[in-house]
Amino acid sequence: MDISPLLSGLNDAQRAAVAAPLAPTLVLAGAGSGKTRVLTHRVAWLVQVEQVSAHSILAVTFTNKAAGEMRSRIESMLHVPSAPLWIGTFHGIAHRLLRLHWRETNLPQAFQIMDADDQLRAIRKLLKARNMDEARWAPKEVMWFINARKDEGQRAGQLKDEGDPTRREFIRLYAAYQEQCDRSGIVDFAELLLRVYELLRNNPDMRAHYRRRFRHVLIDEFQDTNTIQYAWLKLLTSPDPETSPGGLPFAVGDDDQSIYRWRGARVENLHQFQRDYPGVQLFRLEQNYRSTGNILSAANALIANNSGRLGKNLWTSGEQGEPVRLYTAFNERDEADFVINQLRDWIDKGGRRDECAILYRSNAQSRTFEEALLSARIPYRVYGGLRFFERAEIKDALAYLRLIFHRADDASFERIVNLPTRGIGLKTLDTVRDYARANTCSMWEAAGACIAELGARAGSCLHAFLALIDLLDQQIRALPLFEQVDHVIHASGLLAHYRQERGDRGEARVENLNELVTAARNYEPDTEDAMPPLASFLAHAVLESGEQQADAWEDSVQMMSLHSAKGLEFPLVFLTGLEDGLFPHLRSLSDAEGLEEERRLCYVGTTRAMRQLYLTYAEQRRLHGQDNYAAPSRFIREIPPEFIEEVRPRIQISRPVYMPRGKAPAALREDTSAMGIQLGQRVRHGKFGEGVVVDIEGQGNHARVQVNFEQHGSAKWLMLTYANLEPV
Ligand code: ATP
Ligand code: MG
Repeated sequence: MDISPLLSGLNDAQRAAVAAPLAPTLVLAGAGSGKTRVLTHRVAWLVQVEQVSAHSILAVTFTNKAAGEMRSRIESMLHVPSAPLWIGTFHGIAHRLLRLHWRETNLPQAFQIMDADDQLRAIRKLLKARNMDEARWAPKEVMWFINARKDEGQRAGQLKDEGDPTRREFIRLYAAYQEQCDRSGIVDFAELLLRVYELLRNNPDMRAHYRRRFRHVLIDEFQDTNTIQYAWLKLLTSPDPETSPGGLPFAVGDDDQSIYRWRGARVENLHQFQRDYPGVQLFRLEQNYRSTGNILSAANALIANNSGRLGKNLWTSGEQGEPVRLYTAFNERDEADFVINQLRDWIDKGGRRDECAILYRSNAQSRTFEEALLSARIPYRVYGGLRFFERAEIKDALAYLRLIFHRADDASFERIVNLPTRGIGLKTLDTVRDYARANTCSMWEAAGACIAELGARAGSCLHAFLALIDLLDQQIRALPLFEQVDHVIHASGLLAHYRQERGDRGEARVENLNELVTAARNYEPDTEDAMPPLASFLAHAVLESGEQQADAWEDSVQMMSLHSAKGLEFPLVFLTGLEDGLFPHLRSLSDAEGLEEERRLCYVGTTRAMRQLYLTYAEQRRLHGQDNYAAPSRFIREIPPEFIEEVRPRIQISRPVYMPRGKAPAALREDTSAMGIQLGQRVRHGKFGEGVVVDIEGQGNHARVQVNFEQHGSAKWLMLTYANLEPV
């Protein structure tokens, strides 16, 4: 038998791991050292050399994409179809098992899976049915509680309230929620794993069957397994006195890349594994094949700041390469322009677009890059998250604006009529819909006409909604575009609604809504068309959410959060937004463990780069609707200067860039002073009274001023052309 293809392209340490005797194995090694490659070759080795039936191999990867890649690599090595092999993510494999064993686990054959949005909606409904106030029982928190318990393998019946009334209520909600899901044959993500775990635990025959079958369980990114996933692995691989000598797990991981602690991942599983499987063979890989010397040295120096590491020393025999480059941008748009220029350069020199990745800490950061890429006509794809204008909360806000602008927009009407909940039920909506259909009129008109027909309560709720939209319309008419957006997300109750949903998702939604204000503020219509700014902005948003995302097959720049970049590699990487408070995230600054997790995330980011790594940060950033002046991220300082080259001077930018406050160039000041307004000047506004001009931005028709109004108690931004300010 020719085993050369199975061991070629491997170094000695990798070869030793691939060809290791059949025993529990742990490969503990740093980024880019070939862990995933070893795992893939091990599968092929088992089949070809150890004569293990492909049928008895289960390989767990971190993403579906990784599963697909692994499958095709294995097929090309073995020259046989890999169909009998089970390769997938934990969730994918659990799903497959449930489809096979729906009966044994009391599910209907056509059971459905619900995503996080559906789950939240179900919890809301439940709270409502139980007359529980969402202000007191935040649906997000309930969801968080349920999922975390499921990830730990606990059912409501096993939980103790510990004398805490809130916890008692959460446990009751968990029980009621599960009952509701079971009744309708619906399974949430966490349930997939828990259900399969229970299936194997409670069913000795089935357990014995799968233990005999999956003798070889291989797991990539092992450092990020959570309690239930680990429990699953143990159930599958423990010996069965009568039927099975116990399975042979093969786990690969890197403690320095554990980045899902916040979602229940337990890096301790790396230690637990060594305790649970006596005689485990441990392999370490130290040669990095991915990155140049400079990139690797920068990453090594960074991660050395963490304590309690298992410790490893990565080296490369490759070239030193170009230094890591650091760009200090004025602001987020300058940062995006810089990135675009480097991308253009790369492409002009014959590089492919999909060799380039833009990485960020928070999904809200993607918007500025998306806009810059669109206007530069560079195709891109956003991974692991919807593009900005497609996110639910953004669509909600836009629906308000759309309805205000155009009352006959039925889709927008339906989207927000009861969001946030305002007592307008399905029955009321049915009546309105029927009326609209019978009279071929808009929902808006129908609603107005139906009020009298409805019961007193329903009628007054609907009336209140119509009045709200009319009022918003009046209130925002004279405001500049971004204040229109800002006012609507506040006064509609949308922001407060999402703010109540605690947890990471709720926070992200609030951040995104505020980011929409920033988008409006930076929005400049292409031409001086006669369209009101709001109409032009809404059209822009629709176009952006349309088909402009590159097709999967099109060569496009890759954009993703750092969390979804795990395991991937790109020749050119931009690690953006390196500001204290953004990355490391504000929440982690006061918490040593949190800070270490952020540093691991930064290590994951830097080690994605193969040939060239750019670090960027902005002196001023408008994010989530606020101006922030942050210090450069401490992670930049943790990289020794000999590996970093600062990019200076700043690039020539093709589009206007908003200067840091107080640094507005003379041209801007002259322009506005021609309209009789200067910084520090006292002015009077028809509605807000007197105040002092504290900031001026933009030019000509787009000039804006910020005025500190005494009566109003805060500073407001106004469009100079509409504001009719009088100097006093
Ligand atoms: P991560 O920790 O980021 O998941 P990893 O340890 O899984 O990284 P791989 O993705 O398997 O590393 O390998 C990194 C890169 O190095 C890949 O491009 C891989 O093809 C290449 N590589 C791995 N081993 C070798 C080798 N022995 N010779 C040449 N290239 C190799
Ligand atoms: Mg890997």
